Amino acid sequence: MEIYLDANATTPVLPQAKAAAIQAMVEDYGNPSSVHSTGLKARALIDGVRARAQRLLDTGRGQLLFVSGATEGIQTAVLSALHALRERREAGEAIGSQLLYGATEHKAVPEALKHWNAVLGLNLAIRAIPVNLQGQHDLDFLRREAPQAGLVCTMAANNETGVVSDLAGIEAALEASGSAAFWMVDGVQALGKIPLRLSQSRIDYAPFSGHKLYAPKGIGLLYVRNGAPFTPLMAGGGQEGALRSGTENMSGIAALGAVLEALEDPEGKTFRSHAEMSGFRARLAAALEQAFPGLVYNAPLAQSLPTTLNFSVPGLSSRLLQDLFDAADVRVSGGSACSAAKAAPSFVLQAMGLPDWQAAGAVRLSIGPAVDEAFIAEACARIQACGESLRRNCMSPTDNLPTVGEGLSRFMLEGACCYVLADAAAQRCVLIDPLPEQLSRLAQVLRCQNYPIAAVLSSSGAAAHGEARALLAAELPDLLDAAAEIDALGWPLTQTELDLGARRLRRVLLDGGGQALLLSEGGPAQACCLAFVDPQQALALAEQIGPQALIAPPNDLAQLLASTVALERGEAVAAPLLQLSGEQLQRFVDAHPDALLIDVREPYEQFLSQTPELAGVALQAMPLSRFLNAIPGWLAEQQPLLFFCRSGNRSRQAAQALARLGHGQAWTLAGGLALLPDAPIVAPAADPALLV
Ligand code: PLP
Repeated sequence: MEIYLDANATTPVLPQAKAAAIQAMVEDYGNPSSVHSTGLKARALIDGVRARAQRLLDTGRGQLLFVSGATEGIQTAVLSALHALRERREAGEAIGSQLLYGATEHKAVPEALKHWNAVLGLNLAIRAIPVNLQGQHDLDFLRREAPQAGLVCTMAANNETGVVSDLAGIEAALEASGSAAFWMVDGVQALGKIPLRLSQSRIDYAPFSGHKLYAPKGIGLLYVRNGAPFTPLMAGGGQEGALRSGTENMSGIAALGAVLEALEDPEGKTFRSHAEMSGFRARLAAALEQAFPGLVYNAPLAQSLPTTLNFSVPGLSSRLLQDLFDAADVRVSGGSACSAAKAAPSFVLQAMGLPDWQAAGAVRLSIGPAVDEAFIAEACARIQACGESLRRNCMSPTDNLPTVGEGLSRFMLEGACCYVLADAAAQRCVLIDPLPEQLSRLAQVLRCQNYPIAAVLSSSGAAAHGEARALLAAELPDLLDAAAEIDALGWPLTQTELDLGARRLRRVLLDGGGQALLLSEGGPAQACCLAFVDPQQALALAEQIGPQALIAPPNDLAQLLASTVALERGEAVAAPLLQLSGEQLQRFVDAHPDALLIDVREPYEQFLSQTPELAGVALQAMPLSRFLNAIPGWLAEQQPLLFFCRSGNRSRQAAQALARLGHGQAWTLAGGLALLPDAPIVAPAADPALLV
């Protein structure tokens, strides 16, 4: 069962809202502009829902329009205010020189300001109102700047952090400054969570969105204060008193009506009270703190919606945490936009002045007010399972369990590859190209594995590798000998070969600096089976490496994973990448009984794993970070391989790499486990013993 903790992004539709929408589509499908009985019924429905919303939001003599959502509401409000400013300016009145918006506002607000400011030719300055470390608006700034402002935009509650704005303080600052600015308050995240009494304030415009509170997407509300200027965004048939033309979204309005009815219900069966939601959030917070020791909150809980938690965990990226939660079938969102290689920090957290690691590593967990006790209990249990997975896989900030190190593991940092080569039988390991930024992660892995480190080598002689070696020696004095005599590339002066039990590492010094590290298995006379060297430089070493031996690159921004001399020379022909959709999966398995399904997710995801239940098929766990270990065997056997992961990204990389290396039957499950037609059935995780 999915545990959906991303209610600030959107919510499921309440059953009674779904029923109301279907009723409006199938039975009461009239056009409210028609004068016949079917039309009159639809008109009565609209009027009833509007009256309910007016009561709940205390709109007084203000207008409340049905719109398609908050983005449309924001456009309409900004257009109305800016159009009025332009008319005033044309009439010779002073309108101020700027438009102000809170620095943590949803992008729809500054983008709408920019858009309409340009379209209307106003050319006013657009400036952000700074916020403090708690996410609260700088009221001194507002008092100072509001007299020069034509419009001020401040949200009621923030979508990323849940921080609730001090609307009374903002209103007082506007009053004290004597500003005549219009005021828009984005009420999207506040609806149903904190009371809003619009007619009791000087708020001119307030947009709302149905899909953030259990109504479907495509329906929203816009409040316009009585007397505030208005310019329609949509002209046409004159619906909504000619303020918003277009035949009304009756099913959306009906559904929103059902939600508002539940909200107004004095018995409160559907929605939890503020105190109950705070209690739920406290339980989620306690589970998080236990699962992720060292976690920090990115906004003070006391000043936030009782439904939102935004946090970061030292040493764990936002992307990693999202993958972890997703593997446990818990849906959360990153506080920041991630690209494959680099996490872009959240502008909201940056505006609050939080350190970069917090702004880039943020995760948001949000519940809707309709959740119940059983849901929260299950969410807490899943969060605990995430913590357990981290501890078992040496990823927790504390309390990690010992692990066995064997073979090659790759650690990526913005395209740069660090390799840890370990031998379980000999209990020794070697590090290649570590970077100082990876210190905490590597130190954790090496401590859990607890093997003496025979050498920390650099393929290029880069200063950063030496720096990382010194930091590791200071961090792990019992595993790495700081006093060992080594050259500038980290190679022990007294040795010509590094003996790692079943494996041996030789080196070849390169013209122009740096070294190629050649790994062989078995006795001293064995040929190289893996070379750590830049693939271009490998061409000069073709004799020693051989045309087919794998090359592990020091940099892999293109996500190729490995190469060979033959490929670099253009002598090898890559096989095509083969793609499979979820619907084709069972048919593929039936047609290829000898196929091997390979889960390329990381062990901390596999521990929580949900894998498709497919009778009779062989399953192997091979995380992308350990991929190089398995490539030679797969290339030798040429059996059909189907790679899968959560979203299809990593499995595509895996299949592409194998196809490029000449494997003729490397498939990827496009769209990943996320797009499998039915919810996958929990099966035991792939056998870790199959890890080589
Ligand atoms: N304002 C806030 C605070 C939001 O969270 C969102 C949605 O993410 C919007 C505006 C835009 O809402 P809609 O999706 O209804 O256009």
